[in-house]
Amino acid sequence: MGLMNDKTVAIFGVANKRSIAWGIARVLAGEGARLVLAYQNDRMKRGVEQLAGELDVAPVLAPCDVTDEAQVDAFFEGVRELGPLDGLVHSIATAKREELGGQFRDTSWDGYALAQQVSAYSLVSLARRAAPLMAGRQGSIVCLTYYGAERVVEGYNVMGVAKAALEANTRYLAADLGPEGIRVNAISAGPIKTVSAMGVSGFKDILGQVEARAPLRRNVTQEDVGRTALFLLSELGAAITGQTLYVDSGYSILGV
Ligand code: NAD
Repeated sequence: MGLMNDKTVAIFGVANKRSIAWGIARVLAGEGARLVLAYQNDRMKRGVEQLAGELDVAPVLAPCDVTDEAQVDAFFEGVRELGPLDGLVHSIATAKREELGGQFRDTSWDGYALAQQVSAYSLVSLARRAAPLMAGRQGSIVCLTYYGAERVVEGYNVMGVAKAALEANTRYLAADLGPEGIRVNAISAGPIKTVSAMGVSGFKDILGQVEARAPLRRNVTQEDVGRTALFLLSELGAAITGQTLYVDSGYSILGV
């Protein structure tokens, strides 16, 4: 018996095999979860279909660009037709590439708004639609954040500010949805080499620093994050809500 048997989880953020969301999908599928994978656009459809073929039980796939309210509505209408929802994984973020480096003061309003809309506000928008589908199911929502939300990480800039908002969203949503039995938590993952991460200037140096200095002297993997997501999405995490949990080899406890 898997920890996620008879549970349905919608996952946002699978773009390719390196995506953190894919690591989470594999772990959840291994524990018996039925998955609904949202892909951002048609360009990604084929790749996500191929990946989905690697899972023992075929997930349901559906397009959803979170900046398009009609698409978000259509996505959740499709989920509703499948039955109740138990989990939601928010593993998405974006920023203008030129603003993930250089001086923070040069952040444009467009770039600031885009980073907030996709990387932070979308958690609120997805949670609002997911909550009614989680009625009576002890639902659980998990999002992905990074240490740059709370400390200045060179190059992370506008995304650090968006992640700070995402972590605050996690707490406000936890308070809002808790009376309905729905939990909301964030995983603060250490750096992992993904397409998004490679857009942050100096990312390779960050990977090297974690390996050299983190208490565990290693970088984290998709599976490390996937197993923590499983913990938070399953009954193992039943009394945890509104928290940011670090999966970072201990890097965040270090002083200078
Ligand atoms: P990734 O590039 O594989 O995933 C980012 C995802 O965001 C993609 O699937 C992309 O399609 C999706 N996305 C972007 N704009 C979207 C939109 N408008 N609508 C719907 N989806 C959209 O990179 P990743 O590293 O797996 O990122 C996943 C999450 O993990 C992000 O929130 C990221 O900030 C966070 N995170 C990453 C790291 C790291 O080092 N890789 C560390 C901590 C947190």
